[in-house]
Amino acid sequence: YAVRIEGNSNTRELDELIGSINHLADSLGKQEALRKQLTADVAHELRTPITSIGTHIEAMIEGVWEPTIERLQSCYDEILRIGKITADLESLAKVESENLKLDKTKINLTELAQKAVGNFEADINKKHLKISMDGNGSDVWADRDRISQVLINLLSNAVKYTPDGGAIQIVCSETDQWAKITIKDTGIGIPEDELPFVFERFYRADKCRNRKTGGSGIGLAIVKSIVTAHGGSVEAESRLNEGSCFTVMLPK
Ligand code: ADP
Repeated sequence: YAVRIEGNSNTRELDELIGSINHLADSLGKQEALRKQLTADVAHELRTPITSIGTHIEAMIEGVWEPTIERLQSCYDEILRIGKITADLESLAKVESENLKLDKTKINLTELAQKAVGNFEADINKKHLKISMDGNGSDVWADRDRISQVLINLLSNAVKYTPDGGAIQIVCSETDQWAKITIKDTGIGIPEDELPFVFERFYRADKCRNRKTGGSGIGLAIVKSIVTAHGGSVEAESRLNEGSCFTVMLPK
């Protein structure tokens, strides 16, 4: 690519063309690297539950272990986990596809957030979480189902990563151009050095801790894809052991 044609009146155009080709080659290289990484991550995520099921069933078939309800339950839990990972991957593939079609209608963020909270009533009650909702969400043109998915994913994390008795605060506000919703929790928080990576696929802060909570590390990647497709943005702030705050901005 280091070609240069001196003294030619078209040198600038050629330089620009070469620049574009370089840029394209660069981005294709990055895409290829991402694709490889994704395949490796999927294989890794699925291998763990599959190995666990295999070990349990083999031991029961060979008579090393009695087939107790607890052991069958443990296999069943791993199967559910595989089901969740594949469902999440399907959602991610859909929202990341180039031709993602957004079915935009007028939606109200406060109303959608209230509905989303309803999905977690059982866990909220079980964990005695305090939920508050402030502000007035403005109307935005957006895809109702996809934005519901965004709110559900963020709330699911807030509920999952906030210990018993904690609080979750949802605030809707707006500026001239943006509708904004923040979901703030008093949960376990995210270490500062891990915060920049939480929107990456399969990223889970402190992996051992999260195996217990059964996360797959795809929820926030889906959030980011959907919000970006709407021309909006999502940001995370957090302090370890104090809580996290996720802010979504959507163009009005
Ligand atoms: P997961 O299915 O693991 O929750 P996500 O993509 O939704 O995947 O989140 C990625 C990681 O970001 C989580 O594993 C967790 O470490 C961290 N995280 C996300 N939301 C929160 C939160 N509200 N509080 C603490 N950690 C969070």
